[in-house]
Amino acid sequence: MRTDGANYAAVVRIDLHSHSNYSDGTASPAELVRHARELEIDVLAITDHDTTEGWDEAADAARGEGVALVRGIEISCRHADHGVHLLAYLPDPTYPPLAAELERVLDGRNARLPATLDKLQAIGVDIDEDDVRACSGPAAATGRPHVADAMVEAGVVRDRTEAFERYLGPKGPAYVRRYAADLTEMLETVSAAGGVSVIAHPWTKRHNQDALDAEGLARLKDAGLAGIEVDHEDHGSREREVLRSIARDLDLVATGSSDHHGDGKRGHELGCNLTLPEAYDRLLDLAEKSAAASGRKTPEVVR
Ligand code: AMP
Ligand code: ZN
Ligand code: FE
Ligand code: FE
Repeated sequence: MRTDGANYAAVVRIDLHSHSNYSDGTASPAELVRHARELEIDVLAITDHDTTEGWDEAADAARGEGVALVRGIEISCRHADHGVHLLAYLPDPTYPPLAAELERVLDGRNARLPATLDKLQAIGVDIDEDDVRACSGPAAATGRPHVADAMVEAGVVRDRTEAFERYLGPKGPAYVRRYAADLTEMLETVSAAGGVSVIAHPWTKRHNQDALDAEGLARLKDAGLAGIEVDHEDHGSREREVLRSIARDLDLVATGSSDHHGDGKRGHELGCNLTLPEAYDRLLDLAEKSAAASGRKTPEVVR
């Protein structure tokens, strides 16, 4: 049996990173939980981008389906002038500095839409705000994946991946920068909200391998980081090996997850990467300590 978190034949299947249609996933929170049960996932975390709006529906569904549910958020941050995603598990979402920062990120994402559409218009791609809103449904904010969906509908591209590669990615002609939270400050905010932080797919982008090397991650640990998402589809086997040893050396929790987006992202099926039960237990333990130290009322894990 393999001892890392990738696809191992586990008795307990734990997936700590997934998206619903409250951000850029394609399934409702209830559908997401049902899907998890069908795939025999025992513990699922719902981690929509910058919003907790899907939490209640997911929790209700989890109780009905007998799936354990961890409430989380994937927060859009900036570090060394690059975008980085932070998974925050079990924070009190009403903690004012956290709520304010999430609102700022969501506002920034919404505010960018007209500029993105102007840039597309300038290169002959004619999509309007209504087209995009028809794709974003209940999402807390309308982001690039929804623009991509509208481009698919219009027959401009085949799928989201092509839309990002040809138009919406950082080097694409329709890219527009938006607000993101400062990573170090956000680590402190999540702790103060009684939650725990795991850095999501830290080595998705080449440039982040420099800012988020062992030394960089050690500094983030000092600011409150509890774990590293090691097993993620964006990491190759060599990267996973190095990240796992960094996590071990720094005594950070190594997690593995799918980053499932429904039909919105290829190759990210629920359970394609898993977190070991020991790692999950440690994370819960740290969350409990963080909650106690903060004095905040944090959400319970649905069991
Ligand atoms: P936004 O937050 O609006 O800037 O959109 C960024 C989000 O788009 C990321 O968090 C991903 O979930 C998604 N995304 C980025 N690249 C791709 C891609 N190539 N295919 C599908 N989804 C992507
Ligand atoms: Zn996403
Ligand atoms: Fe992410
Ligand atoms: Fe994600």
